Amino acid sequence: MKVLCILYDDPKGGMPKNYPLSELPKLNKYPDGMSLPSPKAIDFTPGELLGCVSGELGLRNFLESNGHELVVTSDKDGDDCEAERELVDADVVISQPFFPFYLTKEKMEKAKNLKLAITAGIGSDHVDLQAAMDHNIDVVEVTYCNSRSVAEHIVMMILSMVRDYHNQHRIVNEGGWNIADAVQRSYDVEGMHIGTVAAGRIGLDALRKMKPFDVHLHYFDRHRLPDSIEKELNLTFHESVESMVAVCDVVTINCPLHPETENLFDTKLINKMKKGAYIVNTARGKICNREAIAEALKSGQLSGYAGDVWFPQPAPNDHIWRTMPNHGMTPHTSGTSLSAQTRYAAGVREILECVMDGTPIRNEYLIVQDGNLAGMGAHSYSKGSATSGSEEAQKYKKM
Ligand code: NDP
Repeated sequence: MKVLCILYDDPKGGMPKNYPLSELPKLNKYPDGMSLPSPKAIDFTPGELLGCVSGELGLRNFLESNGHELVVTSDKDGDDCEAERELVDADVVISQPFFPFYLTKEKMEKAKNLKLAITAGIGSDHVDLQAAMDHNIDVVEVTYCNSRSVAEHIVMMILSMVRDYHNQHRIVNEGGWNIADAVQRSYDVEGMHIGTVAAGRIGLDALRKMKPFDVHLHYFDRHRLPDSIEKELNLTFHESVESMVAVCDVVTINCPLHPETENLFDTKLINKMKKGAYIVNTARGKICNREAIAEALKSGQLSGYAGDVWFPQPAPNDHIWRTMPNHGMTPHTSGTSLSAQTRYAAGVREILECVMDGTPIRNEYLIVQDGNLAGMGAHSYSKGSATSGSEEAQKYKKM
């Protein structure tokens, strides 16, 4: 079996010689009782960099000692990139949403042996799911592995935007003490109305994490949460996204990207938001219209926009979200903390063990199986593709 693994580049200064923490906290299970990734063994040290080329998701020894081939590369965009050349005879392809290998229909047509696409993380929109169904390529992801990591990032971004942390930090770095400059856009979140588009694992955890700030919590989702959760968090459910955004000071976006959610936040919807609201989008860049967000920040319809997701990725160096006013963007990092990497590397190994042993992959990891949406995929995605335009990723020049 040939496994092609596309990972982000190593740190510019080489792999770390040591790490800030000597060990990770021990977690026993996910909050809903689902078990953590449980491979038979691991060949890596939890808490070390695994998502970059030299980290190899800790897979090399495991695959090679079982007689399989592993090819790892970060050269993933453009017609003659290494990933595209190696894909031709690969059986399994592994990619992370942070640095996605856009598995388009054209690429699948050249990959005659390809049977399985593994997302080392959550969110398989970088795969043309329709084409995967048509070509009988299964798609799986490591459900829950980094959901709570993202929820932590959302809380950080809500607080840092509303309180205007970035501006204050910059003033300090520049040697200043201009307090009036530092606070002229700074508010408390207490009392604000905070709403999530989708209350799945991330959305619901973000609501739970915001609750102690004494805010009013709202959500919109295709399915309603149990009554007990609505009561516990004093949640207001909205039948439509329009109804929710009209009353919220902060909107956090937590649905997957699929044809139903692509371009959801366009000028029309943004203009229905409360004036001066903030958006935190850690779901997928394409859910928000690139130009509409930049325009709304310029006009003041939005007071801030933060998130870690872009389209495409890497974002071209001149992507307008890098320079628009009052943004709090990071690269796509929320789900690839060292803690999260440990979980999804173990999850990928668990999936590969199933492939080798011929045992079923957990239902909750399935997105596409045997030509249809399956498992989590059948619940959260819709048919179709959201990969168009991904070739723009080749415009990015390494800094
Ligand atoms: P879940 O599957 O637990 O939750 C997704 C939720 O989205 C479900 O409640 C689903 O609703 C809802 N949903 C789907 N379509 C719609 C729609 N059209 N309108 C409203 N709600 C919708 O996934 P997670 O919470 O773990 O992850 C969510 C997304 O976050 C991922 O798909 C990924 O894109 C992104 N993500 C980002 C990461 C990062 O590093 N920035 C890391 C991990 C994930 P229902 O089930 O009721 O149909």
